[in-house]
Amino acid sequence: MINVVPIPEKITYNGGIVARKSNVIRLIEKNSALGDEGYILRAEPESITLIAETQKGIFYAEQTLKQLMEGTVIQCMEIIDRPRFEYRGFMLDSARHMQSLDEIKKLIDAAALLKFNTMHWHLCDDQGFRIESKKFPLLNEKGSWRDGDNFGPIKSDKRYGGYYTQDEIREIVKYCKDRFIEIVPEIDLPGHTTALISSYPELSCTKNQIPVEKRQGIFEDVLCIGDENTLPFVYELLDEIIPLFPYERFHIGGDEVKYNRWENCPKCSAKKQELGFENFAQLQWHFTKQVIEHLEKHGKKATVWNESLAGGKLTDEATVQMWLDPKKHSVRHANRGGKVITSDFYHYYCDYPYHMTPLRKTYRFNPVLKGIAPVMKKHVIGVEAPIWTEYICDFDKLCYMFFPRIAAVAEVGWSKEENLNSTEFEKRFRKITPLLKSIGINPAKPEEWNPTPIQRLTGTVKFFSSRISVDIIKSSLNNGKK
Ligand SMILES: [Zn+2]
Repeated sequence: MINVVPIPEKITYNGGIVARKSNVIRLIEKNSALGDEGYILRAEPESITLIAETQKGIFYAEQTLKQLMEGTVIQCMEIIDRPRFEYRGFMLDSARHMQSLDEIKKLIDAAALLKFNTMHWHLCDDQGFRIESKKFPLLNEKGSWRDGDNFGPIKSDKRYGGYYTQDEIREIVKYCKDRFIEIVPEIDLPGHTTALISSYPELSCTKNQIPVEKRQGIFEDVLCIGDENTLPFVYELLDEIIPLFPYERFHIGGDEVKYNRWENCPKCSAKKQELGFENFAQLQWHFTKQVIEHLEKHGKKATVWNESLAGGKLTDEATVQMWLDPKKHSVRHANRGGKVITSDFYHYYCDYPYHMTPLRKTYRFNPVLKGIAPVMKKHVIGVEAPIWTEYICDFDKLCYMFFPRIAAVAEVGWSKEENLNSTEFEKRFRKITPLLKSIGINPAKPEEWNPTPIQRLTGTVKFFSSRISVDIIKSSLNNGKK
């Protein structure tokens, strides 16, 4: 068995083994079958040849070779490999708890090894604003700090916070670029904005001074869409942040927006009436559309969470990230020709315990959502494994929760559907674990990957009893198989 994750598309064994000190030859060649990311790896008795159309393809061949070299011998073979999906991402929440630059780099190294090509970086939320802003200094003086932690079992009175300076962000951008990983930064709007509002209370409907949140949850204070000063603020903030990230995609959130404040706000109600809207979801949609148009002026394409479609359809140019979508907005977006990324909550959210989301469940999930017409399936451009960090305050815990589930998502994102096999995957993952450990990543132990049904039940109840309501436990257990 080949010790490579994700499993390559085609492997032909030619007999014999490769001599220990073989030369590695790298060739850039025209070969349209390989595309932008594909490669050929030819392991012969005296040499190993890596062939690709692009440097990126060569880089992926090198990642495969690195894993092969972990074995005792390399067999003579030819690998022809290319990805199933163009978008293979992982999401890091640095808003709830931050990670050091060194830790982020370790994660990027591991992600590169697994052939991920995107890091979605969640940089601002209710619990903290994590990008240095020179235009709006209060975002860092106030919005980057909170009076402790109150996340279920994670409790602390110690002031917590910080932010990444623009130079540090450039350093991470460069580190990613060298590993062919793009960053999709996220500024979550118009909800999850407590840190913004605590810095600039005039952005909210009530204009009241509120603290940066130290609890988990969905909060009532969101940006006031009726106020004429809100959009100009958002545009100016984006104008400062956009140049830090030299990529086409930019995430503007749009999830979990409560409408209570808008309902009671004369300005928001007037705006809704003026635009002839029937509900506040349409007002959110209107706001999102304007922000998308602003991004387009910068040559950027927006990514949004699926709730952004509740008030109406968005341009096909926008990518919708599906996470929890009972109303199937993402499916309709794909069926209209819009792009969709699958991050299904019940399968890909790596911050929930293995009791709730066993490795096998993550691996076996089909990211091409049900309900998408066969000719429209190509609009599912890929997969993303998020990790939210309310309950994850150190890097060891983050690695334990992320690995190996993130590797399962990597394999589903890269490998041909017919090559997927969860038992084989688990064996291969064990073989590459030493390589991850050498990077500084310690995955969960194999005996924790797939708890028994009874362990799942008790573990899930235990997890939620200190966190959220019984309703969520019920829905998580019911909806496990979709
Ligand atoms: Zn308002």
